Amino acid sequence: MLLVSACLAGLNVRYDASNKLDETVRRLVAEGRAIMVCPEMLGGLTTPREPAEIVGGHGQDVLDGTARVMTQSGIDVTAAFLEGAYRTLEKAQSLKATKVVLKEYSPSCGSSLIYDGRFDGKAVAGNGVTAALLQRHGIQVISERQLACHVP
Ligand code: SF4
Repeated sequence: MLLVSACLAGLNVRYDASNKLDETVRRLVAEGRAIMVCPEMLGGLTTPREPAEIVGGHGQDVLDGTARVMTQSGIDVTAAFLEGAYRTLEKAQSLKATKVVLKEYSPSCGSSLIYDGRFDGKAVAGNGVTAALLQRHGIQVISERQLACHVP
């Protein structure tokens, strides 16, 4: 079973209440081969919500307590991001998910690229909080950009 970012399956759960529909992900969910998850909503955040970025590091640094997740107006939402990450990990483990497909660039879901923490639209190499936690527990995290190589 796959676990996938809900916004990639077409659910309007992004900060601005939009989605990032990926037709392959939508098909996997429709065929019962994937389960949707939105870590930020699992962490108790609402939709819509203020955009947030990791400041001072990457996802693994947030896990280690050396970086924070902040909204654009300066509210610290680290606790919600951590809660969402741990609840997503529980879900992945309970489903025995072999692979997780998460939305690139997100401060939760990005697996190789995230925004730089300055809200200037620039991406840097790094992972989001949920992706980092899953990777730390040996779960393979790929982005929608790599999906074609992994799923027939
Ligand atoms: Fe999509 Fe992940 Fe952001 Fe939820 S937390 S909207 S699943 S990128």
